Amino acid sequence: MRNAEIADAFTELADRLAIIDPKPYRWMAYRKAADTFRDLGDSVAVLSDEGRLGEVEGVGPAIEEKVRDLLASGTFKALERAREDVPDTLLALTRLPGVGPATAKKVHAALDGESFASLTARAAAGTLEVGDGITRKIIDALAAAHAASAANDGDGGGAASASGIPLDDAGAPIRGPWFRRDQVLSIAGMLEELLPTTVRAPRPSGAYVRGAELVRELCVLAEADDPVAAADEVRECLAARGWEHADDGAPLERLAGLAAEQAATLQLVSPAGIPVELVIADDASVELVEHRFAGPAAWAAREPKPPARGRRIPFELRERVLAGELDPKDVPKDLVTAAHMRGELHAHSDWSDGRAPIIDMARAARARGDEFFAVCDHSAPYAMVNGLDPARLQAQADEIASANEQLQREHEEAGEPLLRVLRGTELEILADGSLGLPDSALEQLDWVVASIHVQQRQSAAAIIERMRRVMENPLVDAIGHPTSRRMLVRDRTALDVEQLIAMAVEHAVILEVNANPDRLDLDSDQARMALAAGVRLTINTDAHRPSTLALRDHGVAVARRAGARVGDVVNCLPAEELLAGRRRNR
Ligand SMILES: [Zn+2]
Ligand SMILES: [Zn+2]
Repeated sequence: MRNAEIADAFTELADRLAIIDPKPYRWMAYRKAADTFRDLGDSVAVLSDEGRLGEVEGVGPAIEEKVRDLLASGTFKALERAREDVPDTLLALTRLPGVGPATAKKVHAALDGESFASLTARAAAGTLEVGDGITRKIIDALAAAHAASAANDGDGGGAASASGIPLDDAGAPIRGPWFRRDQVLSIAGMLEELLPTTVRAPRPSGAYVRGAELVRELCVLAEADDPVAAADEVRECLAARGWEHADDGAPLERLAGLAAEQAATLQLVSPAGIPVELVIADDASVELVEHRFAGPAAWAAREPKPPARGRRIPFELRERVLAGELDPKDVPKDLVTAAHMRGELHAHSDWSDGRAPIIDMARAARARGDEFFAVCDHSAPYAMVNGLDPARLQAQADEIASANEQLQREHEEAGEPLLRVLRGTELEILADGSLGLPDSALEQLDWVVASIHVQQRQSAAAIIERMRRVMENPLVDAIGHPTSRRMLVRDRTALDVEQLIAMAVEHAVILEVNANPDRLDLDSDQARMALAAGVRLTINTDAHRPSTLALRDHGVAVARRAGARVGDVVNCLPAEELLAGRRRNR
């Protein structure tokens, strides 16, 4: 049994118990155990067999025994009891967004034994009426659940729901699992730790290198002197850690034509149930294999060999070329790369909700090769994240000045590259479009990125009006994470992106591609529209700690997918040029 299935059983137990008794101590331990099992690198089944499950943090004897029963019989007593006490329909109701146990019980009591499937079908068909605890919102959620369960397993078109999940041709969400880009990296990293040393440099391929914002099929490419022998070693090595593999040995369609000794293919399933396709290539073939494995599948048929140097179409633009949307001769030669980026224009410090002092963030940015770093902590009145009012912003100026002096010393005395810390803010856009700081404070700053964090559920008209008021202020340089979506979690605001782009053109405001894989906002389609209209972009990590400065690559990938050139991205400018070109100087 896979970790994910074991985790699901404990999640189910916790969910059912929580409906009977809201007191967390009754079920919290089960929920925590489920999370632990789901993320564990080792197989829970193997640990249990070896009697070592108790070594895992948060797993006591009671949970250990339940796991043993589950592995032996497919269930355990407490779960069966909870299933009797809480019917499936009631459980399914509480899993709808925005429906708590009390509401679910009320709705369930009035249902008279109707199944959840029948309920969602009625909601989708428009025959379910408001009443008996059923609100308009619940009907909408039921209809959405119906669409999600009816969606087929196709490979997905270009469209995506507001929270990022790709939609099929009929506009229904395509069932997962979908992985965020950071999840893909961590799965590749987990694999790297488990692989034998004969296998080198495992890295994501496939949709990931095409700059997809969410990835459905995990492809990992690695190198070895003898791919066939290495593949045997990998099978053995991973089986001992609870990974499964489908031993089909058949080469992928897009690797067809390669000799068996050039590349080996493995279809793996992690203990958490995540399928991973691993291709191991030898040194001489790795470029060709990467070219083919990066896909999409139709690409190998079109272009079986990588073209001569200089004519290669970047992975990120292949899908558009295949779709006939982009002529290969129009592929820009100067697409932005991480190496072109000179600095960060939206990141936080411990002055607001960041975790590190300014000097630590700046040194981390310097170590990554940056020339400037704009401290853009949250502004007043965003108290939840310790937003800065004009007085604290003034005090922060002193700390930035001394950080710059320190960095200058490290440059002169230790030969460190020179990085300049800029004074900025992530300016709060209030519900009516007024700003969290007065112009007198903004005037002193080097960089102002304005973002929406509150009142995100406003109507489209209210949201665009807010943006209009903000953009009319020439002290605002850029709009941060314009649509506020959180990937797979929270929908975009009702913002009309086309209208936003038109206003950005009118006022020469820069739009952000927020590089956090949790956001990727603007997304690549929106960024492409912005570029087509002549809007410049800024790619920022929105880092709250030094390690997350590494997220930039995701933003660069999305910008490349949008076709952004070096000159389209203001982070690629030297600091002086960037500051001289601000709106306020025009
Ligand atoms: Zn923000
Ligand atoms: Zn931020």
